[in-house]
Amino acid sequence: MTLKTAQQYEDSLRELKLKVYLQGEIVDNPVDHPIIRPSMNSVKMTYELAQDPQYEDLMTATSHITGKKVNRFCHLHQSSEDLVKKVKMQRLLGQKTAACFQRCVGMDAINAVDSVTFEMDKKLGTTYHERFKKFLLMMQEEDLTVDGAMTDPKGDRGLSPSKQADADLFVHVVEKRDDGIVVSGAKAHQTGAINSHWILVMPTIAMGKEDADYAVSFVAPADAEGIFYIYGRQSCDTRKLEDGDIDVGNKQFGGHEALMVFDHVFIPWENVLMCGEYEFSGLLVERFAGYHRQSYGGCKVGVGDVLIGATALAADYNGAAKASHLKDKLIEMVHLNETLYACGIACSAEGHKTASGTYLIDLLLANVCKQNVTRFPYEIARLAEDIAGGLMVTMPSEKDLRHPEIGKVVEKYFQGVASVPTEHRMRILRLIENITLGTAAVGYRTESMHGAGSPQAQRIMIARQGNIEQKKELAKAIAGIPAK
Ligand code: SF4
Ligand code: FE
Repeated sequence: MTLKTAQQYEDSLRELKLKVYLQGEIVDNPVDHPIIRPSMNSVKMTYELAQDPQYEDLMTATSHITGKKVNRFCHLHQSSEDLVKKVKMQRLLGQKTAACFQRCVGMDAINAVDSVTFEMDKKLGTTYHERFKKFLLMMQEEDLTVDGAMTDPKGDRGLSPSKQADADLFVHVVEKRDDGIVVSGAKAHQTGAINSHWILVMPTIAMGKEDADYAVSFVAPADAEGIFYIYGRQSCDTRKLEDGDIDVGNKQFGGHEALMVFDHVFIPWENVLMCGEYEFSGLLVERFAGYHRQSYGGCKVGVGDVLIGATALAADYNGAAKASHLKDKLIEMVHLNETLYACGIACSAEGHKTASGTYLIDLLLANVCKQNVTRFPYEIARLAEDIAGGLMVTMPSEKDLRHPEIGKVVEKYFQGVASVPTEHRMRILRLIENITLGTAAVGYRTESMHGAGSPQAQRIMIARQGNIEQKKELAKAIAGIPAK
């Protein structure tokens, strides 16, 4: 079975023994918890669409290891076309969920780890790549959701991992044994952690010799002994606990992040993918971040499509759709959204083969893509709020709308165009609120800023890849100045 059905995915999660804390309490059954379940539904969509013949080309791929059909989230990109399809798949899923569907971090991690372990083995004579391939085979055969875990808590940003007051602020090896290693530390902001079967841990920054114990990468079952999770709070998350389905904005789908803690977790050698090879940690970070920066040129665009649609509907329901300035603002939203997509496609189309055979995006264009993502969704959200109007944040609740007496008052005074039920107007405004200020804003706004690295991280890469010296030579040639 290389493709799980959506139901099989849900059932497989129920078998995990995850230790999860949410708002100070242990969660016995994360799958059915009303705050967590919408995020599970988003991941479930990655399984559901893979079963649908109309999406087969985007959602599935042919494994280069077995020749079998696998979910694209478990696939290593074998061509630039694969890279392009990845972005298109992510846009599709953003459109279907209007949320973060989480599974990309594992896909981006396997693609980065594949080429880096290959190159590391070649240079150092290690044997990590074979181990990785065994894991990949299992991931493909069982259609696993894998959480690619990179970001450490990092403590004092002015200090390297080994200089921190508390050694656990970066994941590190605390003991090396004949049969494996023992690791401690934590990974913060872990997207989809509670909906994943396995974890693929990677170092978070380039490291020096003194940080060798922190240059560690490995895979582990998500419910391995010693791992536990503290679920991240989101704006308006407790609306998910309420009856009704209007105020929450997006009843069915969501995303999540969690703090993932490793308390002396044993990792057998066969699951270790880097252990002390500090000179390769920077390369792994660069490639994973590059792939994830490409990803945002797909997923955020799909969510943007929903937001633009919702905003256009809000204008219709307000009776304002014909106003020329509103039309122009919608055009601007589309322009910004498609510019993000253009970068996602461009860095994919310009991809190239690495030594292992796996394709890597063009890193300069992927970083430009993500740099735009740190800005444009904010402007798109600003325009959405402009068009939606203040009612988006001042209107009464669904309970008021359903109230036997004041319900009529709510209906009467929040009616826009007479042919549109007030309830529809409220629904669309709550959806806009959800994406711009509510639970989905985690993925659409703040994650656009900080996910896959904060803006400055991209500027460093752009500086490194921008090749200003070569541009100087171009100018000299045109201006008639002799070359160096
Ligand atoms: Fe995927 Fe986007 Fe979520 Fe990252 S933020 S996991 S790319 S949906
Ligand atoms: Fe992300």
